[in-house]
Amino acid sequence: VGDYYQTAVPGIFAIGDVINTPLLAHVASREGEIAVEYMAGHNPAPRIDPMAIPGAVYTTPQVASFGLSEKRAEEMEIAYEKASFPYKGVGKAVATEASEGFIKVLFDPATHEILGAHAVGAEATEIIHEILLAKGAELLPADVAGIIHAHPTLSEGVKEAMLAVEGRAIHA
Ligand SMILES: Cc1cc2nc3c(=O)[nH]c(=O)nc-3n(C[C@H](O)[C@H](O)[C@H](O)COP(=O)(O)OP(=O)(O)OC[C@H]3O[C@@H](n4cnc5c(N)ncnc54)[C@H](O)[C@@H]3O)c2cc1C
Repeated sequence: VGDYYQTAVPGIFAIGDVINTPLLAHVASREGEIAVEYMAGHNPAPRIDPMAIPGAVYTTPQVASFGLSEKRAEEMEIAYEKASFPYKGVGKAVATEASEGFIKVLFDPATHEILGAHAVGAEATEIIHEILLAKGAELLPADVAGIIHAHPTLSEGVKEAMLAVEGRAIHA
């Protein structure tokens, strides 16, 4: 398919599981939005950045991720560093007896650009989106760390993971 999911047949578009993109409902939905906006004469951003697709696994604890994993970065020979923060350092996680887990960020050693993130723990499938938004908005970890996060929230773990990128995690 083309950049707006056009097939080789004029007027026929293809999105979702029938094309060679990740087999996920939210990917199919976004591809459908792009295709329809294009058909309607709007100017959608083409295609989906494969590094900006979140994955959510509803195990206990939950698992969520986007972007580069360490394995993939090594396969692709992409330089990275990582920082992580444990749920046991997050007040709400401890108070709700959900202190198993961690939030890990992969970042560019030179620029600190966020390359990927993984979260394992309570509500990981929700909190991954703050990091994904930061990446989409081209924010740096220091930008996220500078935002006041309410206490007690699991999102405080995101702030701490971002502080950890700078070697400044507080409740580790
Ligand atoms: C068990 C299971 C669990 C999943 N869980 C998740 C999840 O938690 N999160 C997630 O993101 N993704 C999940 N997925 C994947 C997700 O369901 C798919 O990626 C998504 O539905 C793809 O959307 P689609 O529109 O391409 O295809 P579909 O949703 O499969 O829609 C295709 C439609 O076309 C219809 N159709 C087929 N042939 C014809 C025909 N000849 N004529 C007319 N209609 C036809 C089908 O009946 C169907 O309604 C799961 C998939 C499975 C199987």
